[in-house]
Amino acid sequence: MGIGIIKDIQVEALDLPLKEPFIIATGRKDAANNVLVKIILDNGLTGFGEVAPSPYTTGDTQQTCIAVLNHIKWAVVGQDIRQWRALLTKTRKLIRANVGAHSGLEIAVLDAFTKFIGVPMHIFFGGAIKKVETDLTMSLGSPDETFAAAKKAVADGFNKIKIKVGMGVAADTERIIRVHEAAPNAMLSLDANQAFTPKDAVELARRIHAEGIELDLMEQPVRKDDFEGLKFVREHCAVPVAADESCFTADDAIRLIRMDAVDVINIKVAKCGLAAALDIAGICRAANKGLMIGCMMESKIGLAASVHLACGLGEFAHCDLDSVYLLKPFECKGGYTQEGPVFSVEGIEAGTGVAL
Ligand SMILES: [Mg+2]
Repeated sequence: MGIGIIKDIQVEALDLPLKEPFIIATGRKDAANNVLVKIILDNGLTGFGEVAPSPYTTGDTQQTCIAVLNHIKWAVVGQDIRQWRALLTKTRKLIRANVGAHSGLEIAVLDAFTKFIGVPMHIFFGGAIKKVETDLTMSLGSPDETFAAAKKAVADGFNKIKIKVGMGVAADTERIIRVHEAAPNAMLSLDANQAFTPKDAVELARRIHAEGIELDLMEQPVRKDDFEGLKFVREHCAVPVAADESCFTADDAIRLIRMDAVDVINIKVAKCGLAAALDIAGICRAANKGLMIGCMMESKIGLAASVHLACGLGEFAHCDLDSVYLLKPFECKGGYTQEGPVFSVEGIEAGTGVAL
């Protein structure tokens, strides 16, 4: 019977094929080259974490994540899992910029901790709700391709569709109209991944409004450092504006909110880790801003932590946890159960419940 000392951290490549190439304004992905992180305790319990590196968004690659996590192994092994926040504060200082690698570590540490104390991770985060419903994302593509993808999403039971945009105002307008034709009852949101100028983003929103199509959200319309541009879009169109690439840290969230530049912040565990996710959620709550939860290309191992966070806090009005629908099926027990677009954490006994 151990007392919760970390015996080992193991890091390995986890290569997962996608069902179809995933194309957004900043690039194309054919496979998810992820990293599996295991935290092994002295009582034999293993916490599982996962990094889904995104070289353009977070600056991580599979190789850098593996190297960075091995680099800080000395600071993790021998530590008391019950002092998880002190541990993560220390490791965060050691690898400040490697956000992806650190997020995988945080998931594994908190999975190990919540398993150690015998509590499901969603209960640890607050236990607000047991189920969350995700949207499904449509890649960039021709109007016909986007129409077909939206038809399939409706057939698969999705009620919310996120459309990747950034092909140009005219082309995107046509694609959005086609999605609305394919899915007239679906809630639609847009994600430009920084592709537009502020004026083009406003023009796109204006054209969609003129078509009588309602948009739930416009995510990251402009470049990540252009907070003034986000504010311009927010003030010149009725669609709520969300920051994704503009917000990695609690400091980013505070700056965005001080400027009143956004309506919503998209928290992704892969960008900020679980500890900062809690901070950002608290900042948004206090500032009366909306919350979105998103993902990179995590398999169930990593995504489960986001599902548990979303259920634990119960305050994410926008839920974009669709990576597992884009990856080829992957054998992994626990985490959550899925029914169409709905994830449930009902019945998870400890941690995320992920078992490999
Ligand atoms: Mg996004």
